[in-house]
Amino acid sequence: MEKITEEIDKPLCNCGVVGVYNHPHAALMSYYALHALQHRGQEAAGITTFYYDEERKKNRYAYHKGLGLVLDVFSDHDVFEKLKGTCAIAHNRYSTTGSSSATNIQPFNILYHSGIIALAHNGNLTNTNTLRDKLREHGAIFQTTTDSEIFMHLIAHSKKPTQYEQIREALRQTVGSYSLVILTEDGLIAARDPHGVRPLSIGRKLNKDGTYAYFIASETCAFDIVGAEYIRSINHNEMVIINDETIKTGIIHSQNILDETPKAKQCIFEYVYFSRPDSKIFGHNVDKVRRKMGKLLGEESPLKHPCGEKYCAIPVPDSANTCTLGFARTNNDVNPTVFEIGLVRSHYVGRTFIAPGQDNREFKVKVKFNTVKGVIENRNLVLVDDSIVRGTTSKSLINLIRSANPKELHCRISSPRIKYPCFYGMDFPSREELIANHYDTEEEIGKAIGVDSLHYLSPEKLLEAVPSDDGIEYCTACFTGDYPIPVEEEIIKKKHK
Ligand code: SF4
Repeated sequence: MEKITEEIDKPLCNCGVVGVYNHPHAALMSYYALHALQHRGQEAAGITTFYYDEERKKNRYAYHKGLGLVLDVFSDHDVFEKLKGTCAIAHNRYSTTGSSSATNIQPFNILYHSGIIALAHNGNLTNTNTLRDKLREHGAIFQTTTDSEIFMHLIAHSKKPTQYEQIREALRQTVGSYSLVILTEDGLIAARDPHGVRPLSIGRKLNKDGTYAYFIASETCAFDIVGAEYIRSINHNEMVIINDETIKTGIIHSQNILDETPKAKQCIFEYVYFSRPDSKIFGHNVDKVRRKMGKLLGEESPLKHPCGEKYCAIPVPDSANTCTLGFARTNNDVNPTVFEIGLVRSHYVGRTFIAPGQDNREFKVKVKFNTVKGVIENRNLVLVDDSIVRGTTSKSLINLIRSANPKELHCRISSPRIKYPCFYGMDFPSREELIANHYDTEEEIGKAIGVDSLHYLSPEKLLEAVPSDDGIEYCTACFTGDYPIPVEEEIIKKKHK
């Protein structure tokens, strides 16, 4: 028997990070925030808290981490007794570099010449080989296989006098993507890499004593669950420090990482699929952007029935729900079109087993999705999804829908064809496995997955759908192959293996 463990044919998301400062129940707040960010990493979770040890008259850290979902990793004892202190950082992991072993679970905590420090990282560095070699030459011994550990070594090797300066010096040597939360003896530090590939936001919540607790999170759905208000997105190339001075004055100290701020290259796929629709990322509502993607998809590839019959637009739940609404509304201008729930998704597939000889892929799709027969039978359907990766799941899903006897079955995708790997923190299958690299045209892909017509949103329209702010551009490399941040040759080779 084979246990179903893999997520159904979608790029795997990288990680979610959380920071809490000046809250009487920092561990509990982190726990709930991690829970809200569970979609960003389901392999492992960890929380580190800092507290002042009255007996020893010094700051100490407590931590708990483990493999599995947030609900399974932490017990009442961990959250209410072991993880003491008023500040915390936390991490949900999916491994984009390094193995799934327990040693790779973040946050990483160290005691070094300047005190204690804990760090959690979302993203991928792209000059890891150079940095590792340099650090090894200076005597560093690595305990994990993740790129995130490199930050700790760079900080510990710095000769700068304060932890804040050591961190800034470390960040200036790294290339790639990072959204970081770091607890130091002086406060909570958060930073986004100079191109701001991954999101990171600041929030706050009024404590009973009249002071504010401050929060950092990958997505603002983590603020909502703890009742914190959104303050702002951390800028690309920005490092902020929240400390006791912030609690007194409300001022969040901010500094550039590099002296010159380059153009941002935010991950466009965060808007397409990764982030939750109820979140704000990069300062904007994901839901609104997804609706616009659906609208532009409808404008770019409308469906007009020759006899004026109605179309039912059905989303692949849950990530395509919002863009399907946008599509249905726009298509309704050219042909009667309604939004319908034609597929129902089960969220509980973790403990399903496949019998020998059973069609693995078809069964996985059946475990995860079921059709609403009354919506599908004898209807003209447009299935809307956010992306197609290998195409294997799409094919099985389309077989499942066909078995409920629709009249017509079309497919619309709210992003362009995925053809290239990501080096900035997402995990796509190899280029050979991506369906878009097997066929030249949309028509051929549509035939291969079994639909009457197929259209992908063009890269130009996708760029039109995302917010345009001053100095902000987007990474679209997985669609275009145009990588905005240099990647070491060895890392490229490893991905193509
Ligand atoms: S390659 Fe794709 S997934 Fe990776 S950062 Fe760029 S847009 Fe995002």
